[in-house]
Amino acid sequence: MERRKIIAGNWKMNMTPRQAVALCAELKDLVKTQEADVVYCVPAVDIVPVVEAVKGTNVEVGAENMYFESKGAYTGEISAEMLVDAGVKYVIIGHSERRDYFKEDDALLNKKVKKAFEAGLTPILCCGETLEQRETGVTMDWIRLQIKSDLVGITAQQVSSMVIAYEPIWAIGTGKTATTEQAQEVCKGIRDCIAEMYDNATAEAVRIQYGGSVNAGNAADLFAQPDIDGGLVGGASLKADFGKIVNYK
Ligand code: PEP
Repeated sequence: MERRKIIAGNWKMNMTPRQAVALCAELKDLVKTQEADVVYCVPAVDIVPVVEAVKGTNVEVGAENMYFESKGAYTGEISAEMLVDAGVKYVIIGHSERRDYFKEDDALLNKKVKKAFEAGLTPILCCGETLEQRETGVTMDWIRLQIKSDLVGITAQQVSSMVIAYEPIWAIGTGKTATTEQAQEVCKGIRDCIAEMYDNATAEAVRIQYGGSVNAGNAADLFAQPDIDGGLVGGASLKADFGKIVNYK
């Protein structure tokens, strides 16, 4: 089965609502493609204007985070239901910046993944190792632990429809990209892990992105790897270059 590529921008904490609308206008024609799904994962306050700005285009909107409760006394949080009502289709869960700076652990992320599915959102679940873990040779053990913990209680059907982003922490925002071999090796390792946890059909269906300093120059090689189904793109998603990444062929 041919998996459809998915290329998502992670805007992080960039772009005011007005800047966001201007960026959507700038990228509108550049990101046109029939070949891949294109997603802008944007800050919470940008969601409503960006959903409006991309209406009628090939772009879907994602959130960068959400909470696992539906409503209530959780000051500052945003629920999956709120995102769905605003027109959001995807949600990044477990980005390394949230794991690190906001101390989000696997038990919490598992609740978020469950809630995202319950509300009808597609999770983009991030995993990845530190440089120290890579140098110690525990990359795959670490990532398998993250995947297994974050997917407790998630069904094969749900996993088939989700996105997993492999993002080596040492490659995020550093300009250091994993080699195509390193990226392919881990993405294949993640697929093998899903096959062990579920079955081959689920492993063949789940889309696995690479993220970490993806740019217009390296996207084609990375996305040509058999187990890399697109990318999660930070810095380069805020520039015209994102159009080149989306149309990498
Ligand atoms: C990211 O934010 O997920 C990311 C991969 O960032 P960058 O592309 O800037 O390394």
